Amino acid sequence: MHINELDTPALLVDVDQLARNIAMMQQQISELGLNLRPHCKAHKTPELALQQIAAGAKGVCVAKLGEAEVLARGGVQDILITTPIAGLKKVQRLIALQRQYPTTRLIQVVDHIEQIQLIGKEAQQQQVSIPLLIEVESGQQRCGVEVGDELLNLIRAIQACNGVSYLGVQAYSGHLQQVKTLNERNHAAREAVLPLFTYIEQVLTPLGLAPSVVSGGGTGTFAAYQGLGFTEIQAGSYVFMDASYRSIEDLQQASEPLFGCALSVLATVISTPKPHRAVVDAGMKSLSIDLGMAQVLDDDSIRYQCGGDEHGILHLSQQSQKLRIGDKILLLPSHCDTTVNNFDTFVLVSGTEVVGEVAIAARGRCD
Ligand code: PLP
Ligand code: MN
Repeated sequence: MHINELDTPALLVDVDQLARNIAMMQQQISELGLNLRPHCKAHKTPELALQQIAAGAKGVCVAKLGEAEVLARGGVQDILITTPIAGLKKVQRLIALQRQYPTTRLIQVVDHIEQIQLIGKEAQQQQVSIPLLIEVESGQQRCGVEVGDELLNLIRAIQACNGVSYLGVQAYSGHLQQVKTLNERNHAAREAVLPLFTYIEQVLTPLGLAPSVVSGGGTGTFAAYQGLGFTEIQAGSYVFMDASYRSIEDLQQASEPLFGCALSVLATVISTPKPHRAVVDAGMKSLSIDLGMAQVLDDDSIRYQCGGDEHGILHLSQQSQKLRIGDKILLLPSHCDTTVNNFDTFVLVSGTEVVGEVAIAARGRCD
């Protein structure tokens, strides 16, 4: 079937570009001598996680326990939950998941003694043990303890607690992923984590408390940390790319972009009120607008503007193709993560041919 026969709005994934992106990031990270632990918040889909693992990823990340539940059920064996969890209900779900899938490694990020003690208590009662990464502040001022005594105290707290073990640290500088130029981005990324690696060398290592795992980095910074001591990179968006990532300078020193856009939204023209204005059936409930507007693929002369929950306004110029009711148009999302979460299904395409579909099983799971 040709994509123009699809009903819309539809979320398309180009399987060829997807496979190239997955292989390219794996190659880049392997050449750096690191492990790739792709962040599945981008696709929320067990099948794609397994494809990344088959390509060489050592495990995956999720942002939320709800995503971990879906991936574990889908057969993913090594899952890092990169956001701290709070409250007995959540902790009991984590422990229940570990009990249900005893051969799956679930790793939880923490940054406070109360999380550690609660997880430890429940885990011990249920006779499981949860490896923990301590999140450290690395410039974003979101979660994370300060490097120094706060970190050391948490390591000791984990060691003193049954039911949990100290695996390492997480340092993720989300605010730097889309700094425009490669040099500025790499410089800022290294500066942000330098105190951590100095502390590891000068304090933790002599105490025998060096982290086994140091996890962090994203699509924008995966190549910034050479020689510092990260063991794994958590990049996520590279699988699809999006307009916001496409707008930053090279992700690596390369003559051509390393990653191509594999994700698009197919929309239909539902109204043509004026010669210079057409309206499509994809508004902000299809294309997220938190990182700006989607871009029209294949025609730079048309500008997309969100027209509400369900409407997208296309501003046409003199050079633009004439659009008629029922015409289909492909849009490049501005932000892949928040766009994917709007859809139940990826329609798999190769060029303009539909080749299959896959359920976005963890869509909506931010619990
Ligand atoms: N790690 C963490 C903790 C994140 O929050 C994110 C994204 O927000 C990523 C990794 C992946 O980053 P990106 O999608 O920019 O590759
Ligand atoms: Mn994102």
